[in-house]
Amino acid sequence: MFDFWRRALAFPLALLLFSLLLWVTAGALSALLFFSLFLLVRLFFHLYQLAQLERWLDDPEGQAAPDGKGLWEDVFARLNRMMRLHLKEREQHAAAMQHMEQATSALPEGVVILDDTYHIEWCNPLAEQHFGLDGARDIGQQITYLARQPEFVQYLSLHNFSEPLVLRGARQDGLTLSIKLIPYGESKRLLISRDITSFERIETIRRDFVANVSHELRTPLTVVNGFVETLLYMPNLENDMAHRSLQLMGEQTQRMERLVNDLLTLSKLDNALNALQEETVEVPALLHSLLNEGQSLSAGRHSLRLEMESGCNLLGNTAELRSAFGNLISNAIRYTPQGGEIVLRWQEKGQPVFSVQDSGLGIAPQHIPRLTERFYRVDLSRSRETGGTGLGLSIVKHVANRHQAQLVIASDEGKGSIFSVVFPGERRLYPKEGLNEQEYAIPV
Ligand code: ADP
Repeated sequence: MFDFWRRALAFPLALLLFSLLLWVTAGALSALLFFSLFLLVRLFFHLYQLAQLERWLDDPEGQAAPDGKGLWEDVFARLNRMMRLHLKEREQHAAAMQHMEQATSALPEGVVILDDTYHIEWCNPLAEQHFGLDGARDIGQQITYLARQPEFVQYLSLHNFSEPLVLRGARQDGLTLSIKLIPYGESKRLLISRDITSFERIETIRRDFVANVSHELRTPLTVVNGFVETLLYMPNLENDMAHRSLQLMGEQTQRMERLVNDLLTLSKLDNALNALQEETVEVPALLHSLLNEGQSLSAGRHSLRLEMESGCNLLGNTAELRSAFGNLISNAIRYTPQGGEIVLRWQEKGQPVFSVQDSGLGIAPQHIPRLTERFYRVDLSRSRETGGTGLGLSIVKHVANRHQAQLVIASDEGKGSIFSVVFPGERRLYPKEGLNEQEYAIPV
């Protein structure tokens, strides 16, 4: 700074000193003329340098800053340095951006960056293919104007992004996408799409295989079971050993029949083409009938009770709900020792809830997250002894999913469990006075 002032003031001070000397030797007028003339020359010098700066500022990237003279030399040199640094940083930035774009383009997933109102800010080539976008033309457009599948629009409007959406027939027939929206930053959203067409095909083959095998096994099993029963009740079967063997054969074929039936039920529930057939499910009547079935299954070994705290019905499928609720009741009976208490409840806690509470064995916490996996059993021998297939809770979970309901399990090992199916409020139907039995009002 000191150097700047020294250099800046050197010329005016020298001029002033020289003019004062001139004043003493040649008079005031000559001194004033001399002083003004040199000041004018200095002024033009600075104007010239400013003009140079002005010209350079018109296109600072296309040309180097002028060399400048005196104080200006330093200023221009610093401007040149700043400009070089800026260009270098910009190049690095552009290279980093290009690198990022290349990396995201190479991703095996489609990526779209959206703002909080779902306007497209950027997308990679795979996302262009998946959603039929044009990265150059569609920036700034709302994605739902361009990808209009009702399931996709609904997925975005529901704001529940915990589970990915499986979108079938997206863009071209046969293309299946798994779509997930991830909020990030202040209000940005990342839309990730994955082509799961081949995975779906393999899943379909697997499902069809299980369904076909189960179907094929059904008839021979019924025949074998029939013969075993006939032989078992033959009046001249006196051999104890043969009797016992036939009894065991009968038990095992029945177990296989139950397995085959459960597998068939699961593959039907699993089939994406098998949409939920909705009707009015008269829950109170259904629960009374299930209570009777439970009582005969328990055969007086437990105390079974139904607490009907709500009279509402459901929009759903009666057969599927009967199977799911029936599985929960049968589990409560099978995993509760003699003398235990089982309570079935139908309540409205903001949402309709069916629950089965038992005072049975309970389940240790580490098993609870895995209970709905196929063939997962906490106690294999107890499950087998009581005629379990290991598929019951898997069926319950599928039925719940198809009704957008949640299966909630609360259990205390050694004390008992509560299995609840929590339905969304939109599925509740109220019987309305004045309407005949088949007509119900749907609450808004
Ligand atoms: P399973 O046919 O073996 O009963 P499920 O899928 O119905 O198969 O149940 C899975 C496992 O969860 C069972 O093997 C059992 O260990 C446990 N389970 C289910 N319901 C209960 C219950 N009410 N009390 C204790 N354990 C249970």
